[in-house]
Amino acid sequence: RFITLEGGEGGGKSTQLRRLARHLRGQGIDVVETREPGGAAGAEAIRPLLTQGDVARWDVLSETLLLAAARRNHVEQTIRPALDAGLWVISDRFIDSTRAYQGGARGLDPAVIATLEAWVLDGLMPDLTVILDLPPETGLARAGRRIETAAPAAPGTGEDRFERMGIDFHQALRQAFLAIAAAEPARCAVVDATADIDAVEAAIRDIVTGRLAP
Ligand code: C5P
Repeated sequence: RFITLEGGEGGGKSTQLRRLARHLRGQGIDVVETREPGGAAGAEAIRPLLTQGDVARWDVLSETLLLAAARRNHVEQTIRPALDAGLWVISDRFIDSTRAYQGGARGLDPAVIATLEAWVLDGLMPDLTVILDLPPETGLARAGRRIETAAPAAPGTGEDRFERMGIDFHQALRQAFLAIAAAEPARCAVVDATADIDAVEAAIRDIVTGRLAP
C-alpha cells in the first residue's frame, strides 16, 4: 500500500507521518517512511537545489523538471521496490505537491504537469492521499516557529522560499489541494490540521483503517 501526506506549510505532515508509521508497525506492518523532494540518493542530492540557496534562479518549468527527475529517482529506487516487496510506503509529499505548488500556486500548465506525471509514475499512484488542511495564517505561524527554533542556517540557506511568499500564494495552494481532493474523492481525504496533534493523528488513523483496512 502506498500512502501520501500532502498539504501546505506548517500542517504537521512529518510529525503525523512518524505517528502513522509507528501505529502501522504496531499492527505488524512493515513501513517505509520517505519524503519529497528526496527519498532516494539522487533525489536527496537534488533537494537542496530546490529548497536552499538562491532558489529564485528557477523558473517554474525548470523547477518542475528538477522535481520530476527527483521523483522518478524516488519512484524507481525507493517506492516501487518497497511496494514490490510487500512493504507499505508513506511519503511526506508526492505528485499533489507539484500539482498544487507548481500548478495551482505558480501557474504551470496542468497539461505539462500531467505529461511529466505520466512519464515519471508509469502507472503508479498512491492508494490513499491524506491532505492536511489549515488556514495559511495558522500554518505559516507554525512554520515560522519551527524556523526560529531550528539551528541557525548559513546565510541564504535553510529557509524555504515558499514560507516567505505572500498569503495569496498560500491561499492558492490551499485551494489547489482542496480541488484535488474534490476531484479525486476515492483517493483523497481531507483532515482538519488545526485540531490538536493527537486528534489529527486519530483522524488519519481512522481514514487509513477505513480505506485500507490494515
Ligand atoms: O514538506 P517540506 O515543507 O519539508 O517541503 C520542502 C519544501 O519544498 C516545502 O516548504 C515546499 O515549499 C517546497 N516544495 C515545492 N514544490 C513541491 C514540493 C515541495 O516548492 N512540489
